[in-house]
Amino acid sequence: MADCIFCKIISREIPAQIVYQDEFVTAFRDINPEAPVHILVVPNDHMVALDQAGQADEGIVGKVFLAVGKMALQEGATAGGYRVVANFGVDAGQVVPHLHVHLLAGRKFGWPPG
Ligand code: AMP
Repeated sequence: MADCIFCKIISREIPAQIVYQDEFVTAFRDINPEAPVHILVVPNDHMVALDQAGQADEGIVGKVFLAVGKMALQEGATAGGYRVVANFGVDAGQVVPHLHVHLLAGRKFGWPPG
């Protein structure tokens, strides 16, 4: 999508610290990390939110979550634990309208989230 910052990261039009990429998903470090490990995992094809996903998106949604697990292993986050967050819409604070899953690790997290 032309104006989407994450689409531009995926296509390498703008720089990012990409830590994993395959045919379906891309993972890169958050530019404003909230934890020692803060990675965003996104589908390569633009989609906005889970509520807009349909049966045809079953595969890509699964691939995004499998990549999150792969990144948790790659970052050595499984021993201490890690948090997975996805924000959708205004109240949740979604800033970038390209579906993304945050992988956070390397410190303790509070619950409930703010
Ligand atoms: P959200 O509030 O869930 O939409 O989160 C969007 C995330 O994208 C924030 O944590 C931002 O710090 C991050 N972000 C925005 N622009 C970039 C960028 N160019 N490279 C890496 N992360 C970014």
